[in-house]
Amino acid sequence: MDMVFHPGFGRSRSAYTALCSGVLFPVHELLKGHSSVAVRRRLEAQEWWPRDRLEAWRVERLRDFLMAVGARVPHYRALFARLDFDPAGVTSLTDLQRLPLTDKGVVRAAGDRLKAEGARGLSSYSTGGSTGDPLIFSIGKARRSHDVGAKWRATRWWGVDIGDPELLVWGSPIELKAQDRVRQWRDWVLRTKLLSAFEMSAANLDRFVATIRARRPAMLFAYPAALALVASHARARGIALDDLGVRVAFVTSEPLYPAQRAAITEAFGCPVANGYGARDSGFLAHECPHGGMHVQAEDIIVEIVDGAGRVLGPGEAGEIVVTHTATRDFPFLRYRTGDIGVLSDEACPCGRSLPLLREIQGRAIEFLLATDGRVVSGHAMEYTVRQVAGVERYQVVQHRRDLVELRLVVRPPFGAAGAERLVRDCTARLGPDTTIRISLVPEIPNDRNGKYRHVVSHLPAAERTWAQASPQP
Ligand SMILES: [Zn+2]
Repeated sequence: MDMVFHPGFGRSRSAYTALCSGVLFPVHELLKGHSSVAVRRRLEAQEWWPRDRLEAWRVERLRDFLMAVGARVPHYRALFARLDFDPAGVTSLTDLQRLPLTDKGVVRAAGDRLKAEGARGLSSYSTGGSTGDPLIFSIGKARRSHDVGAKWRATRWWGVDIGDPELLVWGSPIELKAQDRVRQWRDWVLRTKLLSAFEMSAANLDRFVATIRARRPAMLFAYPAALALVASHARARGIALDDLGVRVAFVTSEPLYPAQRAAITEAFGCPVANGYGARDSGFLAHECPHGGMHVQAEDIIVEIVDGAGRVLGPGEAGEIVVTHTATRDFPFLRYRTGDIGVLSDEACPCGRSLPLLREIQGRAIEFLLATDGRVVSGHAMEYTVRQVAGVERYQVVQHRRDLVELRLVVRPPFGAAGAERLVRDCTARLGPDTTIRISLVPEIPNDRNGKYRHVVSHLPAAERTWAQASPQP
């Protein structure tokens, strides 16, 4: 039924996609006052520039950005005056290091003083955050245009485009609330279908799999855990999804684990393209078909810093700090994302000049704290759990420094031996005075944003900050 009423049905897919990508979506963006078409065209040229030309552009853009911020944003105008910082004198990206980092506490304290005088058309956002402490901020049309344009470019890296049939497994409340008529019309025209990651019961998973088979999307867009669950559900039911012509699965918003990538690739017969960004920090990096996680460097400066805020070099793990130069309406300079990453100085085989983020180790929240103060990454727990057969899904919950619960959804051959091994291995990772409690549960729900969390920490925020120590591999 779906296909019968779908625009483009019976027409060539590429002709309809060209209409969407070349006409309908650009008009939509124009009506919203966005310049994303121009941004995408600019980025598609700039990614091939020689590195030194790109570097010169970035310095110039940073200088213009900081001059505008210093002139129009009360919080930073006062800060620049206090530090005797003259943005007109910026001649290299490292000049940025003369400014302090901006964390969520600074954003909360500054409030409306982060808004540029005379800024118009801003949208207000609030991110939940695990602590229940919301971060309230605004996004202007320039940043929105940048992020749409950059995502659009990255989409096209994979041989698909806006207008190709797309299926989303997503659940952010912002997307769900926006199911008004305009949005529905737009989704229909652009051949986008949303399945809610809020509702992943077994019965709904059957429906999801049937919907995917009926819609035959060219691309998927999803949380990795949610899509991996769809993939393993289809496999358990013996339903093929690799004959539908899915060309790529875009995933974002959570750490992507190798087992998830493998499960998705196997089920859909397509590569997985990882994206990295957040509503507060912007669309920051995206994977290319050669496997390089490219920083959207034309307009974004990524720094890696240690616990003391010192800038680290390529190859060193630290917190990802972002300056997004399309945010002059409501800027965060050197914004601490809370994510851990490693920059690489290697070139990608694809030939694009955009620098690479070699690893993104997820939110600070994706870490556990051992009794001796070591930080243990979610990846380490993933590795540990995957050594034991029969674990379908898991979640590690740190209740106290010395009490960690492993919630498991299991199937045969999982048994006592597996449980004992998990306790032994987790104790080895987290310290001998840690109590490991195993809970076998029928299912593990996604959190209220529809995201799946492998690691949940109930430690106080001050205790679980990764900055106390370096993450352990
Ligand atoms: Zn590449």
